[in-house]
Amino acid sequence: MENLLRQIPSVTKLLETKKGKELIEIFGREEFLRICREKLGEIREFISSQGKVPMESLEEEKILLEIEKKLKLIKRKSLTKVINCTGTILHTNLGRAPLAANALEKILEVSRGYSNLEFDLERGERGSRTLGIREQLAQLLGVDDCVIVNNNAGAVLLVLSALTKGKEVIISRGQLVEIGGSFRIPEIMEQSGSILKEVGTTNKVHLKDYQRAINENTGAIMRVHTSNYRIVGFTQDVDLQTLSKLAHENNLPLIDDLGSGTLIDLIPWGIYDEPTVTQSIKMGADVVTFSGDKLLGGPQCGIIVGKREYIDIIKKHPMMRALRCDKLVLSALGATLELYQKGEIEKIPIYAFLHRPVEELKGMAKRLTENLAKEKFIIKEDHCYVGGGALPTHELPTVVIKLNSQIPPHDLAQWFRNLEIPVIGRIHKGEFYLDLKGVFPEDIPYLQEVLSKL
Ligand SMILES: *Cc1c(COP(=O)(O)O)cnc(C)c1O
Repeated sequence: MENLLRQIPSVTKLLETKKGKELIEIFGREEFLRICREKLGEIREFISSQGKVPMESLEEEKILLEIEKKLKLIKRKSLTKVINCTGTILHTNLGRAPLAANALEKILEVSRGYSNLEFDLERGERGSRTLGIREQLAQLLGVDDCVIVNNNAGAVLLVLSALTKGKEVIISRGQLVEIGGSFRIPEIMEQSGSILKEVGTTNKVHLKDYQRAINENTGAIMRVHTSNYRIVGFTQDVDLQTLSKLAHENNLPLIDDLGSGTLIDLIPWGIYDEPTVTQSIKMGADVVTFSGDKLLGGPQCGIIVGKREYIDIIKKHPMMRALRCDKLVLSALGATLELYQKGEIEKIPIYAFLHRPVEELKGMAKRLTENLAKEKFIIKEDHCYVGGGALPTHELPTVVIKLNSQIPPHDLAQWFRNLEIPVIGRIHKGEFYLDLKGVFPEDIPYLQEVLSKL
């Protein structure tokens, strides 16, 4: 055993090998040393307890390969680019909306050095973080004012905490939404100190249900957009206009949690059932909340817009400070809104993807499989969904590549996930697919290379 222990190479020796130098170049000296010591410690321990060598030999090369594996594994845990071949263009697990080029440029410009984040250039004194965005939203939506926070869950929490703490909030049973497991309207309501007053049944709610629920402790009427599900069949809802009339007759605010946050009419995109923020305001909602990274196509944030009297109260709430956004988010949001102002929506990646004709996707599929033997794949038309808690029932036309392989689909999916730039595909009915709906043209050469290696 002593003999074996003496054969373990030293850290210094590993450092001086060609491979060692290569790994230092990629992962940094400190990290390389840390993992070297860890690995050598493991080998020493194994020999001491088992009386034999863990791998077949104690060759430097083999040990370095193990070290490389470990280093790569650690690196994969940090945030990294992936290629989205799931077909879901707003994939919550894959970062929802990719940012437009001008948003990325703006982030660089504003955050590389100093900015007027909270500095009023006209008066030379402390200013508001969201002055510019307020102007943009006023122009786009005709609202008085806005508040921007970390995400829409935060927006809803803040609105309820500021406006209805200790009071009842009336909401239809059919709208007690859960988003991605961690955001549930009843729980957020409770956290805010407001009291949930459910009315109606899962499928039907009538005006008289709302009317009967109003009492001296009512704080607001709330509507939550069923952004990630639809109730169909024998159903009835009370429209926003009617709710707004009822709320205002009783001096109550009408809060509308839209979630998906569509700023423009999506009818030209063939989408008919998604309410826009403008419609919500026009129909009389006093406060509207929505996400920045769903159908708006911007950075993660929660946007609260509405009447001045309510926004003023929300702005002054102590939680505001805890939920506010940083300059990176505000730069990206401002730049994204600018595209709406200029009518250049197609520069927002998700809208470019929505608009892509099937013929173009087919062309991409042909290019990708150029170097593959004919029997190895099938290209076919399919459908996919927007995702990200938006348009849950709206099918989008797409094109997929199905790989004909003996490898089980889950292993194939893992092989793609383990690539240098991980590729995330879709498994459907026991088959593995690469969906091209959300693939950026600049990633085609990489995918082509990957497929030729398969
Ligand atoms: C998505 C969504 C939320 C949560 O928004 P996040 O930006 O994920 O925090 C809340 N309400 C509705 C209706 C939603 O669709």
